[in-house]
Amino acid sequence: MSLAHESAGVPPWQQAMAAAYRRPEELLAELGLDPGNIHTAMPDFPLRVPHSYVRRMRCGDPQDPLLLQVLPQADEHHRVAGFTDDPVGDLASARRPGLLRKYTGRALIITTGACAVHCRYCFRRAFPYHENLSDSTFTGVLDELRRDTSIREVILSGGDPLSLSDRRLEALLQALDTIPHVRRIRLHTRTPVVLPERVDAPLLRVLAQLRKPLVTVLHCNHANEIDAAVADAVAGLRARSAAVLNQSVLLRGINDSPDALVDLSEALFAAGVLPYYLHQLDPVAGAAHFAVDDDRARACVTGAAARLPGYLVPRLVREVAGADAKLPLQT
Ligand code: SF4
Repeated sequence: MSLAHESAGVPPWQQAMAAAYRRPEELLAELGLDPGNIHTAMPDFPLRVPHSYVRRMRCGDPQDPLLLQVLPQADEHHRVAGFTDDPVGDLASARRPGLLRKYTGRALIITTGACAVHCRYCFRRAFPYHENLSDSTFTGVLDELRRDTSIREVILSGGDPLSLSDRRLEALLQALDTIPHVRRIRLHTRTPVVLPERVDAPLLRVLAQLRKPLVTVLHCNHANEIDAAVADAVAGLRARSAAVLNQSVLLRGINDSPDALVDLSEALFAAGVLPYYLHQLDPVAGAAHFAVDDDRARACVTGAAARLPGYLVPRLVREVAGADAKLPLQT
């Protein structure tokens, strides 16, 4: 990290984001792993993972559940029927650039294409962010939200909204705060999990200015992702949120067992987060090797439910393009 960078007033979290691992051979060397595991370059969706997240991986373990979420694999090049670039109908649900409408009363803003981490199973890994983000995007999105009085809840998504600078995030939140018919704002973010230093005092000051209730939905898939720094970040968010929930993705070889789901729910609760959704994988091209079949998915949740109180059992759901709501898989 250069001193020039620091003296320019770049916040530590932005420096950490900029310093993320981007070369698989560097990451594998850090973990003491054979670079022979590097299969291919992924120019459109390259490796990106912050150092603090890598420190939670087990050295010498090529099957580490955190490593498997971020390391590009040769399987990503295999085209599999049913796995597409737009797996949940985002493009058809675009009301205008940067604004998606899928469910009654809710609207979702594509705030940015940037993320602190590149999750290999990401359902928006091929999303055309360049067509949805421009200087005028937020102006048009806000005009639409002001006009449409049926919208009760606005979801900040992306990319990851906590990749925005505090200044841009504050401007967006303040604008939303003044729309009378919007009752609450939902923040969907993986950043506090992968880069907990993002939840710093300036961000918490921005969130504290909101008058409307804020619902924060984290994205955490494995108990090993939660360490003391993440718990501290969650504590800060809890103090400024009406609720802090978690959604996970069921991922083969990463969390597809009752044990893993129990451990995740317990770790979330210990950090003050309630499990909300467990998503069946969205069938995005390049991620078929993470898919878990429905019978196994149900068995995982049933097995976990036998060992957890009901409030720690996430709802197993699938998002289906064009559906009115997420579809439950458990009966
Ligand atoms: S943080 Fe979310 S949007 Fe970003 S790569 Fe991961 S899954 Fe995709």
